[in-house]
Amino acid sequence: MQTPGSPAVRVRGLRKRYGNSRAGFKDAVAGLDLDVARGEIVAVLGPNGAGKTTTVEILEGFRDRDDGEVVVLGEDPRQAGRAWRARIGVVMQESGDMSELTVAEKVRSTAAYYPDARDPAEVIAAVGLTEKARSRMRGLSGGQQRRLDVALGIVGRPELLFLDEPTTGFDPQARRSFWDLVTGLRSDGTTILLTTHYLDEAAQLADRVIVVRDGEVVAEGPPDTLGGPGARTPVVAWDDGGVRRTEQTDRPTAVVARLIAAAGPDGEVPGLSVSRPTLEDVYLSLIGEASTNDDGKEAA
Ligand code: ADP
Repeated sequence: MQTPGSPAVRVRGLRKRYGNSRAGFKDAVAGLDLDVARGEIVAVLGPNGAGKTTTVEILEGFRDRDDGEVVVLGEDPRQAGRAWRARIGVVMQESGDMSELTVAEKVRSTAAYYPDARDPAEVIAAVGLTEKARSRMRGLSGGQQRRLDVALGIVGRPELLFLDEPTTGFDPQARRSFWDLVTGLRSDGTTILLTTHYLDEAAQLADRVIVVRDGEVVAEGPPDTLGGPGARTPVVAWDDGGVRRTEQTDRPTAVVARLIAAAGPDGEVPGLSVSRPTLEDVYLSLIGEASTNDDGKEAA
């Protein structure tokens, strides 16, 4: 059934198995459901081997699936043609293109494939490569190459952009300017599906985060409420005669008041801190819980 407004991506019961009867089989994607609304930025998080890249490659039409329903911009990527491909942008994990072309030539020649391409010079500027526009691609550093990958992914003005670990190898400044770029694409209405290892990147960019483990979605939600209401309950910590004590509570002020009342004459509570679990804390606990839950679970 189609939800109103037709989502950019709809996946139900996706399965992909690698291997053969001699070496054994591995379910890389084991019944995954995923929705991405138009204009939404969704970040897929998960440990190595969780099935993120396999899933993204199936959505991009680069990999076949064993089972499940997949609709991307209204079409099944398995059957979709050139017109559909021109509506999506792809930044894969590694491009490794060691071309003799210059940056400007490569962006211009890529733009020529698309009916409504962005201005190549603007795109080069947006990824911070203006100074390298006349340099040959093979002379670029890893981070510059990655920014060029992003330029090539967006120059066709895609409705839906796939970014697979786009900022791996970026220094903090380059990562910030990439985030600004993505924020600009969002205001242009581009739908973005992003995989990343950086929790701060997901927190910064994503409207919704999806945590995948062992080929299944184990949690999803906006970055600030992922894991449910209890996941962000503040933690009060203090030192008690050389022992570190913690208390997770909705009423941290009351706990601190109690500690102060019980403190020595100077009113100091040694090592006192009040903190709220970060997205990273929540993510790590979800991954840990998922691994316990998976014990003994039968794949359907
Ligand atoms: P992620 O992107 O989350 O790290 P992948 O989708 O790359 O996960 O991999 C999921 C699982 O499938 C892993 O166990 C990986 O080893 C396996 N896998 C991925 N690609 C292949 C392949 N071409 N052949 C066999 N196994 C693969």
